[in-house]
Formats: sequence, C-alpha cells, structure tokens
Amino acid sequence: MEANRILSGQKTTIFTVMSALAVEHGAINLGQGFPDGEGPEDLRAAAAGYIMSGPNQYPPMAGMPALRQAVAQHDRRFYGIDADWQTEILVTSGATEALTASFMGLLNPGDDVVLIEPVYDSYRPIIETMGAQVRTVRLEPPQWSLPIDDLAAAFSPKTKLLVLNTPLNPIGKVFSRQELQVIAELVVENDAYVICDEVYEHLVFQGHQHIPIMTLPGMDDRCARIGSAGKTFSVTGWKVGYVTARPDMLTAIAKAHQFITFATPPALQLAVADGLAKDDRYYQDLACSLQERRNFLSAGLSDMGFDVLPCHGTYFLTADFRALGFDGDDMDFCRHITTQAGVAAVPISAFYGDPKQAPNNFVRFCFCKEKTVLADAIDRLRRHFS
Ligand code: PMP
Ligand code: GLN
Repeated sequence: MEANRILSGQKTTIFTVMSALAVEHGAINLGQGFPDGEGPEDLRAAAAGYIMSGPNQYPPMAGMPALRQAVAQHDRRFYGIDADWQTEILVTSGATEALTASFMGLLNPGDDVVLIEPVYDSYRPIIETMGAQVRTVRLEPPQWSLPIDDLAAAFSPKTKLLVLNTPLNPIGKVFSRQELQVIAELVVENDAYVICDEVYEHLVFQGHQHIPIMTLPGMDDRCARIGSAGKTFSVTGWKVGYVTARPDMLTAIAKAHQFITFATPPALQLAVADGLAKDDRYYQDLACSLQERRNFLSAGLSDMGFDVLPCHGTYFLTADFRALGFDGDDMDFCRHITTQAGVAAVPISAFYGDPKQAPNNFVRFCFCKEKTVLADAIDRLRRHFS
C-alpha cells in the first residue's frame, strides 16, 4: 500500500517534536506557541453554560448565526470591513481548517501558489497535496524586508494565490501599508487571490498597526481573511476559526469545509461570539500584557548575549545565538537547551521548505507565558551559558 506521496513524506511537526522533548526533560516550553493560562474565566464559564443549555447537536455547516454575526460585527468595528454574515462569513475548526479548506476549495492541479518564507508549516503540504506548486519568496534577516523584485518574479500566469501571514509567525513581522500595497498591486495585475492568515491580528505592539490587505483598493473580492479564537482569547485548544470573504470565494471554501469537519462545537462558537463583543479594553490589555512579556524576555535574552531581533507582533521572539559560541545549527541548539538547560525553543529553519538552505542561526522563543515562568527560563539559560 502506498500512502499519499506528499503527506507520507512529511516529518512530525517541529511543535510536536519540541513539546515532546520538553516534557521528556522537564523543560520550560517556550517552543510551541500557546499561553500558559486557561483563558478568560468569563469565556470558559459561558462555554460551560452553553454546553449545559445546548444546543449540542450539529450546528449549521457555515457556523452558528450568533458567531457569524459577531465576526461580521468585529470586522466592521476594527477594520471597517462590511461583510454580510449570511453569505460572507464561515466558521471553521481553527485557522488550520480554514487554511486547508481555502486551499482545497480554490486550488487545481497545475496552479502556482506564492509563499513568503519563513512560513507557517501547515500551508505547503496541503497546497502540494492539491497538486499545486509552491513558489517561495524569502524575507532576509535581520530586517526581514520584502524583496519586491523577487516577489514580482514569483508571479506567473499560473499563479492562483498568495498566502499572506501578518503578523508573521515565526518572526513577529507586521507588514506595513506600503508592503501590502506592493503585494496588492501584483495580486491584481496577475488576477490572483490572497489567503490572509491573520490569526495574530490582535497581538500587535506599540508603534505598529495590523492592516488586513482585504481593505486595500481592488482587494475586497480577492481575499479570504482568516482569524482564530485560539489567539484572540488565549484558548488555543478550542480550535474555533473564522473566514471572511466575498460570496464566490466563500462558497468555494465552504465546499471543502463541508467535507472536512462540516461544523465546529456549538458551545465554543457561542462563547467565542460573546468574546468577540468584548470592549476595547480587553483587546488593548491583551496586546499590552504580551508586549510587557516580550520586553521582559527580550531584555533577559539580550543580557546573556543573544542577538534578539525586533518583534512587532505575535507570541514570538527570534534570537540569533551565534554570539554565545555554540557549535552547531539551530536544531542542535534547540535540542541542546531543551535537554541541557531545561528551556525549549524552536529552530527558525523549520519554517523553510528546505531547512538545509535556510538561515541556521536563529531560534524562536514563545513569550505568552507568566512572567515568573519567563524569569525561570531566563535564569536557567543564564546559569547554563555563564
Ligand atoms: N496560522 C498561524 C500563522 C499560526 O501560528 C497558527 C497556530 N497558532 C495557525 C495558523 C493555526 O491556528 P488554529 O490553532 O486556530 O488552527
Ligand atoms: N501555531 C503554533 C506555533 O507556531 C503551533 C500550532 C501547532 O502546534 N500545530 O507554535
């Protein structure tokens, strides 16, 4: 029996590998990106209440009306996007499913897809499983600026879509309006779509602003904008995602969604609907508290000799470890600090199609943890390297 050629060739994801190693060695897990709390108490109480009161049977395929209305309202409130909740919003089981449904619903064999590296790991295997080809464009460290000529060269008449993740996991880049404009022009010129992975939309720090590319001229009917309650409400295990797109595009994506998961637990959908209506204070506090923790971890790592790169959004800091004198690549370094110092991180090369051709001197540390946990991690690393 020959299993699927693309998927059977995939390794276990770096997040699973590093989390398992962290557990095995009792290491503080700054690898896989998840907050260490349980999420807002009111949201959890609401979810528990909805489980008891129901409904607990299949919700509508497109999502509970209350959540679709809340997503439409959220998009209007934060970005001025005017979306009809009945025809332009789809609820999915996390952003991962939204991405998969988008690729399955839109791609045909022979299509090209433009990805920007470093890139989140779930895109490429699904794109390739659909028979489409990936063309990559690389952001170069330490500035991670967008190479416009390379980007233009990556487009061709075969280009069906580009995937844009902003704020960008793993490097914490928030694309500027100018960069988005360049991307938008190329997308319009080449009559392509954008799958907009905006799961970190509310985790953006001072001096920066999240701009959905969907709001730029000419982009409205070319974009599927994807959000995740996991990030916005610090409940990554809930796996509630949502897509905003114009009806033609949304219908194509829903055709895939109906056969992948069909629906998402109704109680969680209703609790997320309540969450999206939270006041501005909630959203400000979320970004603010994360920014504080970013600053704290960044200072600790810099003090002991890491060269920490700027981070304008997400849960993640990128640090160059060369100045510490370690002899080995980023994967070796992550294994080393997990097993020897008791702190796990993930290698940045794991976010490249060909890790051997990627920069191998950067690791990603996740800072969405209690300050005491971050302090402990800094201590452990300092003791190890001093
Ligand atoms: N996109 C990016 C860039 C992510 O970092 C993640 C994981 N946190 C996802 C998508 C998946 O989100 P979800 O957990 O909602 O499936
Ligand atoms: N998005 C999370 C990260 O980048 C991981 C999600 C997962 O484990 N699949 O750390």
